Amino acid sequence: QPREQLEAVDSVCPYCGVGCALTYYVDRERGAISFAEGRDQPGSKSRLCVKGRYGWDYAASPQRLTVPLIRREESYPKGALSADVRGEYNDRGRTEGGNRSGGKKGRDGKRKPGGLVDYNEVMPHFREATWEEALDLVASKLKEIHATQGPGAIAGFGSAKCSNEEAYLFQKLIRAGFGTNNVDHCTRLCHASSVAALFEGVGSGAVSTTYGDVANADIVIITGSNPTANHPVASSFFKQARRRGTKIVYVDPRASTVAEHADYHCQVKPGTDVAFYNAIMHEVIRLGLIDRDFIRERVSNYDELARTVADYPPERAAQITGVDADLIRTVAREWGEAGAGVIYWGMGISQHTTGTDNARCLIALCSITGNVGRPGTGLHPLRGQNNVQGASDAGLIPMFYPDYQGVDRDATRQRFEQAWGTQLDPNRGLTVTEIIGSVLKPGGVRGMYMLGENPFLSDPNINKVRKALAALDFLVVQDIFLTETAEFADVILPASSYLEKEGSYTNTDRRVQLGRKVMAPPGQARVDWEIVQDIAQRIGLDWNYGSPSEIFDEMVALMPSYANLRHDNLGLSGKLYPNEDPEHSDGTVVLFDERFNTDDGLAHLVPAQWLPAKELPDAEYPLVLNTGRLLEHWHTGSMTRRSFALDTISPIPEVYMHPKDAADRGLAHGERVRVRSRRGEIELQVRISHREQLGNCFIPFHFREAAANLLTIDEIDPYGKIPEFKFCAIQVEAL
Ligand code: SF4
Repeated sequence: QPREQLEAVDSVCPYCGVGCALTYYVDRERGAISFAEGRDQPGSKSRLCVKGRYGWDYAASPQRLTVPLIRREESYPKGALSADVRGEYNDRGRTEGGNRSGGKKGRDGKRKPGGLVDYNEVMPHFREATWEEALDLVASKLKEIHATQGPGAIAGFGSAKCSNEEAYLFQKLIRAGFGTNNVDHCTRLCHASSVAALFEGVGSGAVSTTYGDVANADIVIITGSNPTANHPVASSFFKQARRRGTKIVYVDPRASTVAEHADYHCQVKPGTDVAFYNAIMHEVIRLGLIDRDFIRERVSNYDELARTVADYPPERAAQITGVDADLIRTVAREWGEAGAGVIYWGMGISQHTTGTDNARCLIALCSITGNVGRPGTGLHPLRGQNNVQGASDAGLIPMFYPDYQGVDRDATRQRFEQAWGTQLDPNRGLTVTEIIGSVLKPGGVRGMYMLGENPFLSDPNINKVRKALAALDFLVVQDIFLTETAEFADVILPASSYLEKEGSYTNTDRRVQLGRKVMAPPGQARVDWEIVQDIAQRIGLDWNYGSPSEIFDEMVALMPSYANLRHDNLGLSGKLYPNEDPEHSDGTVVLFDERFNTDDGLAHLVPAQWLPAKELPDAEYPLVLNTGRLLEHWHTGSMTRRSFALDTISPIPEVYMHPKDAADRGLAHGERVRVRSRRGEIELQVRISHREQLGNCFIPFHFREAAANLLTIDEIDPYGKIPEFKFCAIQVEAL
């Protein structure tokens, strides 16, 4: 169809935290999207990566859930297919590598991407139900568990794929309807440690400046991040800034393509970030490059920090990190002498048992050099999912109501009790990782409501997850596909993709944007907020929301940071929060220009000592595993592996190995290997990669048929409770 005969619908990309603005061109005759195009907006400037441009056809997949499903009584044990596909259902977690031919035939006779759930095998475990029957069953079962085993036996697991309004309603349902704060989402697996450190250090979990502000920086540190793959459009801003003179220091164990655009690549050994940044601070202080006025007026606990980093001269850090001491000195001088610097970080910083300490060091480095609160300065954890910032803002976390207002503060709780008309739990709830552990203990969680998440593939040590999901008394999964996790459900509720509903999403920059409805949900699938409201009504809550904008207005009234925002003043580009005057302003780019958000207005420095990772390599498991994402895929692949273009470009799981590590084992590129950790094993192909460090391997976690999280360890950071996805010991051997 010519462009002028297509209907243009403005929306937002659903994948990464960059949240690119785009327009879908819809052929109403065919009832399908013809193509997508980037739209001008300050944070994306009409750019899109391959996921935004081509990754929307999954919504029209014949595998969409279109009718409520209830598990047949005789179909236990739960997750039988997962056991079949991945190997024996036992403690060894052995898998057979799934489908090796690259695809098998689905219900429609067409070849499906390898490794996805085969509906022919799963569907017989379920029977179709009416919405009335399914919702009645959900409400009655959750109410029964609540009545017989107490509020703490219920848990809600929401999603950063959902809109702000859906996240707000979901956490309100769990808190107001079931009297527990056991509600969390995938931020626990992504930036929970960053948020813990930021909240403690500067009193706010959000970024202090945007990625576009890189244009005003003299120098930036990009650390623990591969933005080319994970935040591609933000990465284009970084590369553009470098061409205009901004220096880039890249600190990462992998030599990803960002290293080719960097002035300095500090290829630290995995898990040594605290030692590296303590040494940088050691040098900055030794050279007198600190900002004394800023420290005197705006920082607390500097002296203790200085005493701690005094023990980290570059030579000692070089031994720990593997980075040459002279390079550490050079980077420290460059950073200290620069007029303005920003630190951008990713999950290579946050996904460690020392994740909070890692982020504390970054906060301290910016603070002692006065690099916060001015254009071209600041702290920016690059958020993973498109709405992980918004879902966290909306209170989808166990320790905070919306806008990071503590559940354990009496005055705050009373304000929410008044607003929601019910008594609330005064105790912090369990995090995602704690909920899984709790299910396996007496007196723990027994009933769970899962909205748009797939912990079977995304959580660490998934043999433990599999046992927990199977052990629940009742699991309801609301999703658009029959995911690996949904195989364990008692009730499956067919939900809507972001293309099928209205709602707001908040990107990594704090930009709140509207996603608009492009098409109707398929079959009987329904909009998520309506399903949540139907369950709320069935458990006795007097909810009668008429639209997402009505929900947004209630949410904003409880969230000072979002003050003045409404759906009808977000415009086509969205607005940054905080925003005094959304009608006339894009919002605030740089936070903390006068004071931090802490009670005393100061940045609170928390010194950290370097600690090694929890499971170090040894003779039996000599290599270190790092997990992460590829450019073409997203998280557990439920969407991107059903996107024709994306799955065609990147169809199979691979383990990325340094050439010498491969040669030492006699492995050639493309050869199949078995990768084993103390928790499980998978089989996949070798990719010889010069981007890996000697002794380190990388496996993306998108692939069901070689699930990387069978290998990962479920040790967590003590503050942010985030798992150590970036470090565990493995062995690799030829098959
Ligand atoms: Fe979507 Fe992120 Fe790519 Fe933008 S950079 S198109 S938000 S995946």
